[in-house]
Amino acid sequence: MTAALTPPTLQTLPDPIAANVVRARSRTRARLMAVVKADAYGHGAAPVARAAVAAGASWLGTTDVGDAVAIRAAGLRTPILTWLNPSGIDAEASAAHAIDVAVGSVDELETLLLQRAPAAVRVHLHVDAGMAREGCPEREWETLIARARAAHVDGRIEVRGLMGHLPSADRGDPAANAPAVERMRRARAAVVRAGFGPLLAHLAATSGTLTDPATHLDMVRVGAGLVGIDPSGRTALTGASRLTAPVVHSRAVAVGTAIGYDGSHVTTAETHLSVLPLGYADGIPREISRDAFVEIEGLTHRIVGRVSMDQIVVDTGPRRYARGTTATVFGPGGTTAPTIHDWARWSGSIAHTIVTGIGARVRRSIA
Ligand SMILES: *Cc1c(COP(=O)(O)O)cnc(C)c1O
Repeated sequence: MTAALTPPTLQTLPDPIAANVVRARSRTRARLMAVVKADAYGHGAAPVARAAVAAGASWLGTTDVGDAVAIRAAGLRTPILTWLNPSGIDAEASAAHAIDVAVGSVDELETLLLQRAPAAVRVHLHVDAGMAREGCPEREWETLIARARAAHVDGRIEVRGLMGHLPSADRGDPAANAPAVERMRRARAAVVRAGFGPLLAHLAATSGTLTDPATHLDMVRVGAGLVGIDPSGRTALTGASRLTAPVVHSRAVAVGTAIGYDGSHVTTAETHLSVLPLGYADGIPREISRDAFVEIEGLTHRIVGRVSMDQIVVDTGPRRYARGTTATVFGPGGTTAPTIHDWARWSGSIAHTIVTGIGARVRRSIA
């Protein structure tokens, strides 16, 4: 006899990821980069990358050369671009593993050129298309492009791409993207003037891909869309994960029972409670509306009382569940279980924060 329960588990679903890639590809003639930063928005970089590539993604993207090396170690040979690189660009690793790097300032390029690498580092020039975040400001473009051109001619780097990012695509309104598209047109003209041939130009993320073909250029970079999130809210994509937890305790309680810290919920009738071993340390938002529920055996049950660090309590009405019964905290949609979009609404946030916030002690599995 074993006492084992199935612990809280986040299951990644490759089929919806593939379907979402096919959906995005049906909207564009450009090639598609699958963005798997932040461990593929919490879903696991390698399995998401594998599913996306099998469905037609021809590039991968992430925010650190180290993450890209891990993707190579998982056996993927697809071209990979990294940007941001919070530990700095590791030129040797990027050259050794054929990892393209985005360079967003003259400083970043100079630092890269100070390093020795076994081969020319593949570079995408990252220009600010209008959000004053990463990306080279327009007044420095000429310097960056001239310096990159010289290093390219010397064989130190191989400039392959031109990257921008849309500030307002989530509005789903092409007019909001027009200034960024115009800036990219100026950047493309500047690199051609500097003597580069046609570079691979890319600007759009999920929202631009789904709502504005004028932003697609040569490649689109889809991250949120892989895991079922269209930030513009225009396209219903399929969720790509399921979060489950076992009932660890279940009991009958009388009317007037105070639940959890500070008794913030008091029962108004006789009922049953189930305890689930997941809390804010696992990414359950602490601030949630009273509508929040989970699904158990096809029924929906409200979360009552405060979310604790490690546990939540659900009111299961007349039902008393056996220890070990599986509760679904969120699923991909199409059932009575809540979705990440429900959790986003209940917590006043966006679905991205739900999936990227799932804690490290939640077990991961692949369907
Ligand atoms: C995160 C990111 C993406 C992907 O954005 P989604 O809206 O999640 O598709 C694309 N490009 C850059 C530069 C990013 O940082």
